[in-house]
Amino acid sequence: SVRRFYKQKHTMFSRGAHGQVRAVDGVDFTVEEGETVGLVGESGCGKSTLARIICGLEAPSEGTVRWNGADVSAMSHSERKTLLHRQVQMVFQDPHASLDPRRSVGQSIAEGITTHRLLPASKVEARVGELLTQVGLNPDHAHRYPHEFSGGQLQRIGIARALAVEPKLLVCDEPVSALDISVRAQVLNLLNRLKRELGLSIIFIAHDLDVVQHMSDRIVTMYLGKVVEQGDCDDVYGATAHPYTRALLSAIPRKLAPNERLERVVLEGDPPSPIDPPPGCPFHTRCYTAIERCATDVPALDAVPGGRPEHRASCHLAAQITLSRVGMVSTIS
Ligand code: SF4
Ligand code: MG
Repeated sequence: SVRRFYKQKHTMFSRGAHGQVRAVDGVDFTVEEGETVGLVGESGCGKSTLARIICGLEAPSEGTVRWNGADVSAMSHSERKTLLHRQVQMVFQDPHASLDPRRSVGQSIAEGITTHRLLPASKVEARVGELLTQVGLNPDHAHRYPHEFSGGQLQRIGIARALAVEPKLLVCDEPVSALDISVRAQVLNLLNRLKRELGLSIIFIAHDLDVVQHMSDRIVTMYLGKVVEQGDCDDVYGATAHPYTRALLSAIPRKLAPNERLERVVLEGDPPSPIDPPPGCPFHTRCYTAIERCATDVPALDAVPGGRPEHRASCHLAAQITLSRVGMVSTIS
């Protein structure tokens, strides 16, 4: 079987009012075919910038984005256009903003099919019906307009529109955070089912680990534009190595068994400005386990001692953190 992958490593600069900001730095990860990678962090950590770079909406100033091993920036204009408009599709946070209110949802879904001449005109309508069915909506509603649908239904339509061009990779930027709690699980289940049925790769961006947990094969945690932990879902949840990931995990509401307790971590304040990031470990100003050297020495993103080599964390105390119980559910003995 063909092994498709999407790898990237880059630094992204954007110029703000106060000078040059390194929005994303030293990020390096691969998405395999049929795999979901969850990208987690508080708002402003660079997740959306990364999503925009992956989708070709912004260019990295350093580093490369690779598709099946080929450097995207070295591709010809037409190759890149095909890649970015067909192989990669984005699902946005706000489904209202991403659909044209003056066009029927069927027209919006059909747009990619006709632009790329994927089907003869006579077959487009049937395909739109098929896509609506695939996302759990009534195919007869193709002629309706966005205002006639609920938020959850609109997000399904957004997904149908993304699928219309038969992409290999879906980049979902906070796809359920604007939706009612009651419909979130349905949309997540839909994405999981489509991933299985279509062999899609998904980059799933969210600000909390709660949502990502049920979606991802691998997790990447970001803080101030840097990856602070990455690894298989089981490793990141079961042997969490970075205090920041641990704090995000402890914020997940969960039912505890009578003999369990949750040692919760509450992070004080907002992340510092990425314009003037703290020296040493970028997390040290909010870290509840910081030691003196954290304020001066930058920790490298290294394999977690005693873990699998793919499980990496940037913390001087990664080995100890993995063994401690702060922020974890523990059994009272
Ligand atoms: Fe906390 Fe220090 Fe680890 Fe940074 S390196 S996460 S400040 S313990
Ligand atoms: Mg964002």
